[in-house]
Amino acid sequence: MIFLDAAATTPVRREVLEAMWPLLSGDFGNPSSHHSLGEAAAAALAGARTATAKAMGCRAGEIIFTSGGTEADNLAVKGIALARRAADPRLDRVVISAVEHPAVEDSARYLARIHGFVVDVVPVDAFGQVTVEALAAVLRPETALVSIMFANNEVGTVQPIARLAGLCRAQGIPFHTDAVQAAGWLPLEAAALGVDALSISGHKLGAPKGNGALFVRGRTRLEPLIHGGGQERGRRSGTENVAGAVALSTALTLAGASGRQPAAAIAALRDTFIAAVLAGVPGGILTGHPTERLPSVASFCFPGTSGESVLLELERRGVICSSGSACAAGSDAPSPVLLALGISPEVAQTAVRFSFDAAITAAELREAAEAVRAAVGSVRSLAQRE
Ligand code: PLP
Repeated sequence: MIFLDAAATTPVRREVLEAMWPLLSGDFGNPSSHHSLGEAAAAALAGARTATAKAMGCRAGEIIFTSGGTEADNLAVKGIALARRAADPRLDRVVISAVEHPAVEDSARYLARIHGFVVDVVPVDAFGQVTVEALAAVLRPETALVSIMFANNEVGTVQPIARLAGLCRAQGIPFHTDAVQAAGWLPLEAAALGVDALSISGHKLGAPKGNGALFVRGRTRLEPLIHGGGQERGRRSGTENVAGAVALSTALTLAGASGRQPAAAIAALRDTFIAAVLAGVPGGILTGHPTERLPSVASFCFPGTSGESVLLELERRGVICSSGSACAAGSDAPSPVLLALGISPEVAQTAVRFSFDAAITAAELREAAEAVRAAVGSVRSLAQRE
């Protein structure tokens, strides 16, 4: 079987599991406990925080461990917007892009529904990118926060984050980016990017599901969402998931380490795969940006099919992929991301996403491209007979 759905999730890496085990067995203490077991857990947590901060180019105190990317996004969007409006009631607008993950989009919608914020949605171009001009057009003196993802989970388009963040910085508006898909592929240095908040998730990187982190720059005001014992410097209460934090930091460190195929090599494999699919499937359309895309994502529409049927045909041929994001899977509605790129609902229903991890080989992708050609051909000929 060829697994081409790494943007949905990845298996846990052996090194990650080995790093976690001591914290789940011998050193199982609560990091808040004042005895040796607690101190060992606290030291492991501190080490994980330092390693995570190193990978994200920030200070350890700027990292908040969370239960995953969704919580990190919720905390950034709600936490920063609510804290800023509490300090200045005029700040009642948030800006998001038209292609955000539901973790960001629904957080913004919640702010509108329950807290009376106005949500300004900045459009994307046909490749899925937000331009500096488009963002400038929606910024207002009342904008409390801008949240624009680093790389899109459905089409892989990478945003010009440093430029977008720079524009907001010049106007004193905090900028959050959802880097869940970018982590492991693109440099996350928060200072170089100029962002005020950045979310990541462990399970996209070889750590288990249910752990993530949010970087929040130094003095940025943040209203906590989870109240209790005051862990994570009062910004996220609850006994810390020490093994999860160690898993995340280990996975992040490994992703940046040598010995792994570099992103440029994976991007070259991706481009060969894209060319083979487009050559094999007449009328196939690459979605997203031709060059500014994650090395690990190739996404297409295959007019004359349905994405779900192609998916099933591919699985029969030993290739696992997705008809969009894992969150949209199982839903019949066309992807809002593809609609935002100007793709028609009929064509959007034919979307298929292939996403791979750093272990992918040229031979696997050659085999997968051949399977795509055969699967699309078989779905199309069935459709014609109906
Ligand atoms: N943001 C993006 C861009 C994602 O792709 C995902 C997961 O698919 C998330 C957020 C949510 O992360 P998690 O699954 O850790 O909650």
